[in-house]
Amino acid sequence: MHVHIVGTGSSGTGCWMRVKGWHWPLAAFMTRHVGLSRKAFSQNFDQVYVENLMRLVRESSLDKVVILAQDLVHDPDGTPRKDLGSFYVPNDYVLQLAKEHTEFLPAVSIHPARADALDELERCLEAGAVMMKCLPNCHNIDCNDPRYEKFWTRMAEAGLPLLAHTGGEHTVPVINAAYADPRVLTLPLKCGVTVIAAHCATKSGIFDREYFHAFVEMTRQFPNLYGDTSAFNVPFRGRHIGKCVQPPLSDRLLHGSDFPVPVYGHWAWMRRFISWSELRRCQRSGNVLERDYQLKRAMGFAEAHLTRVNSLLRRRGVVVQ
Ligand SMILES: [Zn+2]
Repeated sequence: MHVHIVGTGSSGTGCWMRVKGWHWPLAAFMTRHVGLSRKAFSQNFDQVYVENLMRLVRESSLDKVVILAQDLVHDPDGTPRKDLGSFYVPNDYVLQLAKEHTEFLPAVSIHPARADALDELERCLEAGAVMMKCLPNCHNIDCNDPRYEKFWTRMAEAGLPLLAHTGGEHTVPVINAAYADPRVLTLPLKCGVTVIAAHCATKSGIFDREYFHAFVEMTRQFPNLYGDTSAFNVPFRGRHIGKCVQPPLSDRLLHGSDFPVPVYGHWAWMRRFISWSELRRCQRSGNVLERDYQLKRAMGFAEAHLTRVNSLLRRRGVVVQ
């Protein structure tokens, strides 16, 4: 899970993307890294991106991937801020993609400050959402705001898990850096929501604060807290892999991708989490989804790490009170 859909809005998908400054070479690099040609931006990008992703899933060891919508940044009073944020992916687009393609499971994205947040949640539940994704530090969400209690309670009742970004972030603009702290997720946890802290609150850039240990502490306090290993194959996030593969922490972690974020096993090899021959074998795969999977196995994550998410996703037909 944790596979991003991005789009330019070609063919009326409703997506948009705003790439500025040094993010241009990064975006071009990521596009090539996932197997798209440089021409993708001048073609029907949204369709090309989805077709390429489906091919990668089919040619990998994965059966399905959870694809993510991306809501707009909102002010705490609920005002949408189209001037902030770097990309937008409507809920209807991921819900539609999941209806059309069996490779995809839909994770919607709803800023809880939205005036229509509860209505949108009901609509997405009805349409088959399996998860809700947000980035508190980039969306500007103080999840502990008591005004959101009703929203989290409804998610808990419906069995809809929350995938929340934690730790530093450098591919999407940060609006409130303090919300990188996993303790921002305390209220949804107390309301009974199954929460998955994306990246286990690890640092992304060299100057980011490290919240991994705060996350580990919270897993002892909250049995409904999990962490995903998305983007663990970038320079800093994988620093704690040695601890992550050991129980009891390993029982609370699950495989996340963060596609289209680059996947290089060199960082894990440099920290001696994998051998040179394992690095060579994994790097030979040009399919980034498969390479990430193979690297996680080589690092020592058990097979259960890859399937654990199945027990957390919302199922249709869950009893609603
Ligand atoms: Zn992500």
